[in-house]
Amino acid sequence: MIVARTLPDLRAACAALRRTHEAIGLVPTMGALHEGHRMLVRRSVASGAATVASIFVNPLQFAASEDLGRYPRDEAGDLAALEAEGCAVAWLPDVATMYPPDAVTTISLEGPALRWEGDARPGHFRGVATVCAKLFGQVGADRAYFGEKDWQQLQVIRRMVADLLLPLEIVPVETVREPDGLALSSRNRFLSPEERRRAPRLFAVLQDCVRGLTAGEDAEALLTQGAARLRADGFTPDYLALVDGPSLAPIATAAPDARLIAAGRLGTVRLLDNVGLSAA
Ligand code: AMP
Repeated sequence: MIVARTLPDLRAACAALRRTHEAIGLVPTMGALHEGHRMLVRRSVASGAATVASIFVNPLQFAASEDLGRYPRDEAGDLAALEAEGCAVAWLPDVATMYPPDAVTTISLEGPALRWEGDARPGHFRGVATVCAKLFGQVGADRAYFGEKDWQQLQVIRRMVADLLLPLEIVPVETVREPDGLALSSRNRFLSPEERRRAPRLFAVLQDCVRGLTAGEDAEALLTQGAARLRADGFTPDYLALVDGPSLAPIATAAPDARLIAAGRLGTVRLLDNVGLSAA
């Protein structure tokens, strides 16, 4: 595996991959890799693509109030994991490469970027979309792999790629979970043992809501009960909502493309999860 830390090194590595492979698959990450990230890499490798994984803790997607410095980092462990999964290139740019001091261009979004995480984290999707657009161009990727764990992010990226006519395919990968249902996240390590015990309730509540909706129960009542259960379990819920999957617009009744999305704080850790309506 080549470890590229400068743009010329990345370009040389990608040019070589293009001569030997039909496609380049990109897996953008912020590092502290777990089984969820590894699944994205595995999917790309299994597709036959030469796989480039980026590790970049993107300052533009953190709000001023969020602690960028607290984000977990484990470069040696990450490189070992990527190599073990068959990744061809690890791309580790520095901040000056991604954001030259004279840069003035960012990507502004509406549609699926409004509401939910867009409200809870002002500027977050501008940061995510801007860094992904740069990564897509730097790597010249034919495909990029994103986790359904961050459902709204996946839809925002799909929308951006469609709107800007970017020549790559966005491939979704289902959420990887702990045996008790908790979605893997780099932030789970910050849960206390007691919080970790309660954390799977988020997925359990989502599943129960899906079951109720599938049985024809009233969505508003189910969501109100679900939020109350989360509060009783020690969460401070930000939202628990039924939305149209691609647009993230709230909807009142179950529909084929519907998604249940939820976010809430448990102690100092913000947890995010979602399920499709066929998941229960
Ligand atoms: P991050 O490093 O948190 O920015 O995540 C990088 C990519 O990994 C994103 O596409 C995430 O959606 C994806 N990802 C994170 N956690 C999981 C998970 N538990 N299952 C599947 N994909 C995930």
